[in-house]
Amino acid sequence: MNIVVASGKGGTGKSMLASSLSLLFSKKVKVVACDCDVDAPNLGLWLGVTSYDVVKPISTSEKAEIDSEKCIGCGRCFENCSFGAIEKIDSNFIVNPLLCEGCGVCRMVCPVEAVKVKPVTNGEIRIKETKWGFPLVSGQLKPGETGSGRIVQELRKRANRIDHDVMILDAAAGIGCPVIASVTNCDYAVLVTEPTPSAFSDLGRILEIVNHFKVSYGVVVNKWDVNPSISEKIIKWSGERFLGRISYDREVVNSIVALRPVLVSKSKVKGEIISVYEKIRKLTT
Ligand code: SF4
Ligand code: SF4
Repeated sequence: MNIVVASGKGGTGKSMLASSLSLLFSKKVKVVACDCDVDAPNLGLWLGVTSYDVVKPISTSEKAEIDSEKCIGCGRCFENCSFGAIEKIDSNFIVNPLLCEGCGVCRMVCPVEAVKVKPVTNGEIRIKETKWGFPLVSGQLKPGETGSGRIVQELRKRANRIDHDVMILDAAAGIGCPVIASVTNCDYAVLVTEPTPSAFSDLGRILEIVNHFKVSYGVVVNKWDVNPSISEKIIKWSGERFLGRISYDREVVNSIVALRPVLVSKSKVKGEIISVYEKIRKLTT
């Protein structure tokens, strides 16, 4: 059972809920938690993880390199690179690795085979056996690198090798490649939103992806009491898909500052989270 926690918008409470669901499910079944936000992983912080047992470099991206000895300076690579990744400095052509997408067009057009496209280490995969009795698989894309969607695919492969009944995936914000890679092949999506016009609008965008992949879903309104009237609109809109609401509580912020899961804090939202979990459990088991 793969349960993804997603939201079209950042800061809605995905990781807080994903960490809580991991803890709650782990009391009944074998869980693996998977942080799929490889640009800004923070699920570990919600679980009090500050170091990892395994850290492995990973290569899911390629970059071009020009051999200056072979290059005859024809400029075809420069003219054909759609990403502006080839620069002409004096009479030399060089690749800017921060802009190169590894598409290989420069290699195709080069008349003297002066271009090679080589794999690069663009991130790492980390695994930690948390003190809560389940493992966390997390990834990190290197700054300026591309290939986040492929790193998420790789993360999921590694997480799948660990014996588990339920995988909780914490998706990145937005609707880009890493989110698509997180939602694909999931059994259920928990869509977390907050009562703001932008979050409500982004909820519609993530729903398009979830529907595209035919993933069943439910909606949680976090910090609902910040704007009860928008919350009511979202709840009405969600209909039978509504899973529950979670109140705003400063103690939730204090939890992550203290690297402590919300469920072991004194927060008043614990009961609300447990009620959301109970609904998800009934719908998914
Ligand atoms: S591999 Fe593609 S993006 Fe990179 S330099 Fe060559 S043409 Fe440009
Ligand atoms: S296409 Fe090849 S030969 Fe021409 S400038 Fe680029 S690397 Fe040099």
